[in-house]
Amino acid sequence: MSDTTAPSTRRTISFLLPVYDEAENIEVFHAALVESAAHLEDRYDVQFLYVDDGSSDGSLAVLKGLHDRDPRVVVLALSRNFGHQKAVTAALDACHADAAIIMDTDLQDPPRVSLDLVAAWEAGADVVYAQRLTRDDSAFKRATAHVFYRVLTRAASIDIPRNTGDFRLLDRKVVDELRLYREHNRFLRGMVSHVGFTQVAVPFHRDKRHGGSTGYPISKMVKLAGDGIFGFSTAPLQLISRVGMAFSLLSLLGIVYALVVRLAYPENAVPGWAFLAITLFLIGGVQISMLGILGSYLGRVYVEVQDRPLYSVADTIGDPW
Ligand code: UDP
Ligand code: MG
Repeated sequence: MSDTTAPSTRRTISFLLPVYDEAENIEVFHAALVESAAHLEDRYDVQFLYVDDGSSDGSLAVLKGLHDRDPRVVVLALSRNFGHQKAVTAALDACHADAAIIMDTDLQDPPRVSLDLVAAWEAGADVVYAQRLTRDDSAFKRATAHVFYRVLTRAASIDIPRNTGDFRLLDRKVVDELRLYREHNRFLRGMVSHVGFTQVAVPFHRDKRHGGSTGYPISKMVKLAGDGIFGFSTAPLQLISRVGMAFSLLSLLGIVYALVVRLAYPENAVPGWAFLAITLFLIGGVQISMLGILGSYLGRVYVEVQDRPLYSVADTIGDPW
C-alpha cells in the first residue's frame, strides 16, 4: 500500500479493475475505457488500477505491457487467485483517490456508463451503483440471479438493491468506511449498502462478455449467494426454531389423533409402521438440514477467528494513489 498523493491538486478518480484470465479482453477493454475516461480528464486526474487475481493465461504480462505504454496504469499482482471480491478489496485498500469506480474487465460493464456514474457523484451522491435494466447473460444465470435477489431481499436485514453487481462508483468517504469491514467471506455489494450514505442508481444495459469464459462458475455463485445471505442475515437461524415449532405442533396433532382413534375405536389400533418410518426419516432429514445451517455459521465464525490476511500482494507495478 502506498500513501503517495496525486501528482497535482486536481481531484482524482481511480478505476478499480479486477482481472482473472482476461488476456484476450484487456487490450480492447482498456482502449474503450481510455476513450471514455478522456471525457473526465479535463477535470480529474485518472488512474487505472488493475488487480491481477492470479491469472494463468498471461493477463499479467498484458497488464505490464499496458503499464509500459500508459503511465496511468498501475498493476497489483496478487500471489494467487483469491476471488473477485478479494481482488476488489485489494484495489480498495490501495486506492486513495477522491472517487473509485469498480468495473469488470470483460466489457460486460460498458466503460461509457462510468461517465453517468461520475455525473451522479458530481450531483452529490456518495454511492452510485449501476443497475442492470437488461442483461445479456444465459437464461440460467438470469433465473438464478432473480431467485437470489428475491431471497436476499426477504432474508437480509438491510436493503440490497436488486440487479446490481459490483459496478459502481464510491466516494472517498465510503471507501474509507469499507476498509473497516474486514470479514473474510465477503459480499461487497451488501457491505456497500450497509455503509449507508447517499446512494443512487444509474440504469444501464449489461452486455455480453467480450471473450473468454466466466470466472464465476456455479460453485462460486453458490458461495457468493451464501456470503450474501449468511453474511447479512440471521434469518436462517430463526428458521430453525420455526421449523422446530411446526414439527412440535404436528406431533401434538398426531397425539390427539392417536388418542381419539384409540378411545373411539378400541378394537382398531392406530395403524402403522410405515407412518412411523416415514416420519422418522422426515424428522432426521430436517434435523440434519438444520445442523447444516448451524454449520454454515460455525464455519464462518471459524474463518473469522483464524483471522488470516484477506489476500497477499506479490508485486506492485506503478504507484497507486
Ligand atoms: N474475476 C476475478 N477473480 C476471479 C473471478 C473473476 O478478479 O476469481 C474478475 C473477472 O476478471 C471480471 C470480474 O471479476 O473482471 C467479473 O468476473 P466474471 O466476468 O467472470 O463474472 P460474471 O460476469 O460471469 O458474473
Ligand atoms: Mg463478466
